[in-house]
Amino acid sequence: MQKIDSDQRLRELYDTGQGYIYNDFEGGHQTASSRESNKLHRATCEECDPRRSKHAMTVNTQGQKLFFANMSEAFKWLMTNRAGNWSKCLRCNP
Ligand SMILES: [Zn+2]
Repeated sequence: MQKIDSDQRLRELYDTGQGYIYNDFEGGHQTASSRESNKLHRATCEECDPRRSKHAMTVNTQGQKLFFANMSEAFKWLMTNRAGNWSKCLRCNP
């Protein structure tokens, strides 16, 4: 797992097209919206690239952005740290 700390890094991950990006929008808080807001994407999802979607994440939007090299790494982290409090993006279907 790597924390994505710049928009340049976010663009590199999008352009490389490998792995998964998790938008930890509401972090560990559980609210009525947190499961829906804490979203796992494929790195290629347009919601990870502000050049393609004006609604895309940037490092300045709420919550940390995390990169996982593969789905098993992502799943392990999410089950340990955000169990029942995250969801998959329906657009990119990771
Ligand atoms: Zn997505």
